[in-house]
Amino acid sequence: MNNYKLLTPGPLTTTEAVKREMLIDRCTWDDDYKQVTQTIRQQLVELAQVDETQYTAVLMQGSGSFVVESVLTTTILNDIDKVLIITNGAYGERIVKMAKALQLQHVVYCVPYNEQPSPLEVQNILEKDDSITHVAVVHCETTTGILNPIDDIGAVVQAFNKTYIVDAMSSFGGVPMDLSNGQIDFLISSANKCIQGVPGFGFVIAKIEALQQCEGIAKSVALDLYDQWKVMQVDGKWRFTSPTHVVAAFAKALEELAEEGGVEARSKRYAQNNQLLRERLSHCGLKAYIAEDMQSPIITTFLYPDEAFSFDDFYQDMKQAGFVIYPGKLTELDTFRIGNIGDVHEEDITALCKVIENYMAVKNNEN
Ligand SMILES: *Cc1c(COP(=O)(O)O)cnc(C)c1O
Repeated sequence: MNNYKLLTPGPLTTTEAVKREMLIDRCTWDDDYKQVTQTIRQQLVELAQVDETQYTAVLMQGSGSFVVESVLTTTILNDIDKVLIITNGAYGERIVKMAKALQLQHVVYCVPYNEQPSPLEVQNILEKDDSITHVAVVHCETTTGILNPIDDIGAVVQAFNKTYIVDAMSSFGGVPMDLSNGQIDFLISSANKCIQGVPGFGFVIAKIEALQQCEGIAKSVALDLYDQWKVMQVDGKWRFTSPTHVVAAFAKALEELAEEGGVEARSKRYAQNNQLLRERLSHCGLKAYIAEDMQSPIITTFLYPDEAFSFDDFYQDMKQAGFVIYPGKLTELDTFRIGNIGDVHEEDITALCKVIENYMAVKNNEN
């Protein structure tokens, strides 16, 4: 198989050093391994700029969605609690699907895909319905690449004293985040996004006070985040088999994040790459779907330039040149996506832009 640059929102391109960590087999009940888990938990809390007396990090096997579902089933009581779910993309909609499957009482604040949810509207909803106990929102909607105003919404949620759940899957580690204002009770992310690890587990940065109240709520054994925390809290042991290779790779990825200069530096790299990409593609007729002021540095959705455009042909051409891009996820518009996250640097984006510019020039000549 060829070594492509993945310009996708995870799994993404990882470094050689991260991949190399997976060549060693590790023992789950060995003290050294458990210490790796504990160090990761500590570092995640630090990345969230909070204190270990107030927040804890719990790691959970599975892809990101498993962890979202784990938070929902662990924190929301059936028949008693009610969650307001804010949606402007497929990942918010996935939370709604989970709420339905878990038979949680829920209401949906549905926003068009190219708009941000309004904190004022959240306030209106909470004022009108005081049976709402939880609010769930996605930070970067990876469907489009839009960045949602989680702080402004969080201020409202906090004023109403509700539990705040944030799916920051595709942004944590790539966009500076400060949880020290105490707005967020449960923040969810995973190993294979902006921390630049490989897929296999996700994590929750949870307010200890909120997590302590969740004993016995989960309608699942495997996804019980409270139980996972209780066991992990003892000495870093995972309940059930832990993804040892993935955990080791993740520890390395965290080291590399620090070496790069932390979240600030990484976020700057992503943002510069994103801007370069948007600018150069716009000059050859590929317009971004999300307005610049709402665009995240994570992933960008581009509209097809014209009717004649074939994504398949474009995709194969890019792949030939060593880049794997992503199809769009909008139903009513023809789009494709290009991710910026992972071990992707300015020279990669420049090379990609050249390939795209050539492709577009050839197509324009043919037409
Ligand atoms: C990647 C992602 C998820 C999780 O997706 P999985 O395929 O289960 O890893 C959830 N929410 C958002 C916003 C994401 O970007």
